[in-house]
Amino acid sequence: MTRRALLVALAHPDDETFGTGGLMARAVDEGHRVVIACATRGEAGEIADPALATPETLGRVREDELRGAAAVLGVRDVRFLGFRDSGMAGTAENGHPDALINAPAEEVVRRLVREIRDVRPDVVVTFEPGGIYGHPDHIAISERVTAAVGAAADPGRWPEDGRPHAVRRLYYVAIPRSALVEWRGLAQAQGVQWGFGDPGLIEKAFADDDIDASVDVSPWIQRKKAAVAAHATQLGTVEKMPEAFRDRLYAREWFVLARGDRDGELLAGL
Ligand SMILES: [Zn+2]
Repeated sequence: MTRRALLVALAHPDDETFGTGGLMARAVDEGHRVVIACATRGEAGEIADPALATPETLGRVREDELRGAAAVLGVRDVRFLGFRDSGMAGTAENGHPDALINAPAEEVVRRLVREIRDVRPDVVVTFEPGGIYGHPDHIAISERVTAAVGAAADPGRWPEDGRPHAVRRLYYVAIPRSALVEWRGLAQAQGVQWGFGDPGLIEKAFADDDIDASVDVSPWIQRKKAAVAAHATQLGTVEKMPEAFRDRLYAREWFVLARGDRDGELLAGL
């Protein structure tokens, strides 16, 4: 078997576990190299348990949490790009000068090009362009990673930042409408409001036919749950739901092919 490399490039600590935790654990178990690039340290998020962090320590605590979650999944190479969490849309954090959304796009793309040329991944994964539920950082990282995958292969772009590298396939993490409908129904049966706080989420979701890879990650579900638990400052609604709900939520991961050959199987020939 050829050992391949997978680069997962997302915005905040915990993005990697929910969208790609099972995929990464599977890739590691199959002998592939997996690297996580996280644009921010989640500095602007809410703190689930005030005993664990303060707004001042949150970034450092979440860096440790991400390294812990990654270790559970078998991923040792975690890189922080050093931008600041921009916060949810419409919050004061959006205006912070160090926020990811306020960094010049070229600066973020260049940072990612350096990582791509260093890791030299066969497959790159980031968010779909809508950012799953519209978080400004999710939308930004999707755009910047997509641009960086193109630029990394171009010898004319930042030649001093590494040897050009062509990524074979770029995938977007996405959630199909049918899954969101199912989860909403399960949550309502438990009397819980759920849906990332976005009432238009289901209408905006990807149609099931637009999903290129639907990956059954149930064999890795215990590790995925342990990785979720490692993000202790972020434990929220989902973790309070019954186990059967979480098992449904975590059992599959979905991807849309943004660039490269369609083959329907994310890691086959990764
Ligand atoms: Zn996020």
